[in-house]
Amino acid sequence: MTDPTPDQTTDQTTDQATDQATGRSEPPAGAVAPPTRPEPLTNQGLFDRARAVIPGGVNSPVRAFDAVGGTPYFVARAAGAHVWDVEGRGYVDLVQSYGAVIAGHAHPHVVDAIRRAAGEGTSYGAPTYREVLLAEAICARVPSVEKVRLVSSGTEATMTAIRLARGATGRSRIVKFAGNYHGHSDALLAASGSAVAHLDHSEGATVPGSAGVPPGAVADTVVLPYNQVPVLDDTIACVIVEPVAANMGLVAPAPGFLQGLRDECTRVGALLIFDEVITGFRLDIGGAQQVFGVIPDLTCLGKVIGGGLNVGAFGGRADVMDHLAPLGPVYQAGTLSGNPLATAAGLAALSLLDQGAYEQLEGTAAHLAVGLQDAFDSAGVAAHVSRVGPLVGLYLAPTGTPGPVPAPVDYDGARAADEAGYGRFFHAMLDAGVALAPGAYEVLFPGLAHTPDIVAHVVSVAYEAARTLAGEDRA
Ligand code: PMP
Repeated sequence: MTDPTPDQTTDQTTDQATDQATGRSEPPAGAVAPPTRPEPLTNQGLFDRARAVIPGGVNSPVRAFDAVGGTPYFVARAAGAHVWDVEGRGYVDLVQSYGAVIAGHAHPHVVDAIRRAAGEGTSYGAPTYREVLLAEAICARVPSVEKVRLVSSGTEATMTAIRLARGATGRSRIVKFAGNYHGHSDALLAASGSAVAHLDHSEGATVPGSAGVPPGAVADTVVLPYNQVPVLDDTIACVIVEPVAANMGLVAPAPGFLQGLRDECTRVGALLIFDEVITGFRLDIGGAQQVFGVIPDLTCLGKVIGGGLNVGAFGGRADVMDHLAPLGPVYQAGTLSGNPLATAAGLAALSLLDQGAYEQLEGTAAHLAVGLQDAFDSAGVAAHVSRVGPLVGLYLAPTGTPGPVPAPVDYDGARAADEAGYGRFFHAMLDAGVALAPGAYEVLFPGLAHTPDIVAHVVSVAYEAARTLAGEDRA
């Protein structure tokens, strides 16, 4: 079989692609003839074209580089720890699809599973064997999950878990924590981290995190500070929390915080929801709940369980999950839910994740975090590099902050970050061939493909970038 990957350095018109698919040698009558010598693609050229037809030129805001300035690189292909842009420039990639890819890009085992599944059909609208296997794999590994429903994104998972909690308890009010990001559903956007943090500069009160969200949609959302156990009452349906906050930089749960939430929810009959879309299958096989020994009622998953394809999931206590249609009155559905390609990719990815893999991930992240902290310290840049298991977060403190810089513990602390400084550091790294996320509130996702040599290279690049940053700061 020939490699189906198109030559990414040339412009592929729709007509050309159709011709390849049908084997036609002549374009159909009336078709626009493809250019005889296609223009090479450039990042700037594609961004210009994209902005003409896609709002902001991107399909998810952080990708537009608004937070760091400049032109995004358009990815042509990726392998392992690397991505290459359409101009042929390669980068060590620490984005890894924001954590959806854990074993490295285009891992042969995952690619092979997707290819084989695609040959059997791409979507049926009927149940399949692999959905059962993926659900069994999740239930067997995540301590709180007795039953699970597969959806297509993390947003769908959290949105539906909230509906289920409301339906199961008969209560309306929900608690979320400032700086936690749970996807882009109306009720959960208030005081959100991730790219929303660059937009939302409201203080304190529960206000919608986006235009177009009516006040009524967040009227029952109570936003509280992360790492403080609230006193709840019996109007609360659920508390949703990132057990390790990974959308305001990286903020670890304070000792007792997660257990305090568990106890308080139990006391008032509210459900505790862990949003493990990032931490699930990344912190450990059983996620953050296994690492911290706190068992939620419901768990939201995404990213890793789809092996880079579109999968989310929510699961938990069987008695709660059984409120879902068709067994119960809480409705949820999806044309592409449990998609055969996505379940194949997810199962292939999970099969690579044994205990040794988690030890490797943790070692890689430790090497990276220590190296980055040294790079900042030796350049005199005020920064704190946080690490929780395999997750690494950068917090650049405002210039002049005396060291050592403590780790932020909540959203107010995290948002003191020097966003402009992060932008300069980001570009110094990118110019030297290392791609971080283009936003100060995202974390780094070292994966199984980041070898010790690659990490050492990243650290040496960071020394130089930190010196550049320090030089600019002094200027
Ligand atoms: N929850 C968390 C903790 C996330 O980090 C994200 C996305 N980064 C989501 C939910 C939403 O997932 P998705 O982008 O797949 O909708």
